Amino acid sequence: MTIRIPFVDLNLQHQSMKTQLQQAMQAVFEKGDFILGQALKDFETAFAAESGTKYGIGVASGTDAIALGLQACNIGAGHEVILPANTFVATLIGVLRAGAKPVFVDCDPKTALIDLEAAARAITPHTKAIIPVHLYGQMVSPQQLLDFADRYKVLIFEDAAQAHLAERDGYRAGSVGIAAAFSFYPSKNLGAFGDGGILLTKDADVAQKMTRLRNYGASSKYYHTEAGTNSRLDTMQAAVLLEKLPYLPNWNSDRLNIAQQYDAELAPLNRLGIIPMQNQSGTGHVYHLYVIKIDDSCVLERQQIQEQLAAVGIQTGIHYPIPCHLQPAFTDLGYQIGDFPQAEKQAKQILSLPMYPGLSHSQVKEVVAALASILSGEQQQLLCI
Ligand SMILES: *Cc1c(COP(=O)(O)O)cnc(C)c1O
Repeated sequence: MTIRIPFVDLNLQHQSMKTQLQQAMQAVFEKGDFILGQALKDFETAFAAESGTKYGIGVASGTDAIALGLQACNIGAGHEVILPANTFVATLIGVLRAGAKPVFVDCDPKTALIDLEAAARAITPHTKAIIPVHLYGQMVSPQQLLDFADRYKVLIFEDAAQAHLAERDGYRAGSVGIAAAFSFYPSKNLGAFGDGGILLTKDADVAQKMTRLRNYGASSKYYHTEAGTNSRLDTMQAAVLLEKLPYLPNWNSDRLNIAQQYDAELAPLNRLGIIPMQNQSGTGHVYHLYVIKIDDSCVLERQQIQEQLAAVGIQTGIHYPIPCHLQPAFTDLGYQIGDFPQAEKQAKQILSLPMYPGLSHSQVKEVVAALASILSGEQQQLLCI
């Protein structure tokens, strides 16, 4: 079956700014400042400012932004870090690479965001930080996070890899905690032409330490004050990101419009067990993904729906099919099935519908019509038996 509606289409945004992107890359090529060049500095400053914070330190990936970022915040051996079980595995990898102990907690079934009451129960004398993951483009409530951090005396380290320029309670993603990690993986709301990431922070010491950690731990040339690594955002990638950044607010509002269309079109299907994740942040949700739940009341299971949509050329995704605590690589952490019922249930029921800037109103209608017809076909069959 040919794909009629892809899950994401990056070509749309790139075609419309092709010349501009080529010129930006050409300029780096001419200048030759491939490592820690001017476009990187410009992008770091611009992205930090747009996100409502002070410093930006570009690195090779979002995963490195988490791993090195935690180290830059002096979070590591002997510390426990609270994180949601239902996140992309990179959040966990970052914590482990920093040398800290990951402590998972469950999520809120309505939003899929970390359950802060569960987080409160996970606090021990060793808890050093909490990583709220601003999942699917929606921030974990900054007000509740700040209250939490204040009450339990822990640091907030945001995983904002899916939430570029998201807003809630008057805060932008990346401006709430001591530091925040972003990814520029190509399909993120702001994507590079390859891998990339950044740490944002308002803390000058964290910024300086991060600047050293990404550059072999050097405080000056050939003088190494920490066991750092090589993880810099390429100047070439920064040049691409710098060109794209001014378009990001429009792309995000396009995503929000599409989500609002989905919400409206899907409303009649709610009673059939098709439940969109709840938006609790109004126009501040940047909808990296549009996620629905196929709940217990639905006549079909998620896999059947996904297959039947694929059969009519509609691509969907699952973010994510296996919660972190059940991934085979991490059994030594000692978690098991049943530890986080909400995260485990969601992993079985969630489905991400096509979502990208430029997805048209008629395409959204088509996705929902296909879903409706799959469900009504099934209902009729049931009635005939
Ligand atoms: C994409 C992503 C990451 C990792 O980013 P990479 O650039 O792929 O290393 C981390 N956390 C979350 C929630 C993500 O979605």
